[in-house]
Amino acid sequence: MTDLTPDGVEAQRLEIEAQLSEQLETLELRLARIHAHQKNAGREVSRDWDDRASERQNDEVVEALLPHTLAEIAAIRRALERLQGGDALTCERCDGPISPKRLAIVPETRFCAECAG
Ligand SMILES: [Zn+2]
Repeated sequence: MTDLTPDGVEAQRLEIEAQLSEQLETLELRLARIHAHQKNAGREVSRDWDDRASERQNDEVVEALLPHTLAEIAAIRRALERLQGGDALTCERCDGPISPKRLAIVPETRFCAECAG
């Protein structure tokens, strides 16, 4: 386990926050594309597209992405709130520290590796 100084914790918090914000931005862009895609569904928007078959296939992929994208956005927003509240680095179950490595991989996690186990 790493002994984090208060400065180290703060630096880590900022780093994770930046990472989450970036992910959130990506997801929101994706969400906007999904919404735009749904708005255009049923309309003749295919002229710009080379391959209508691949567009139909794309429709299904996009539809499937929506619930996943919304869930991810919600999870990241919650994680950001917890980070801003200063308790994202602590496991909700055992109050132990969540390792930086783990947070780098799953920033929205609320549990340490053992409790998530
Ligand atoms: Zn724990």
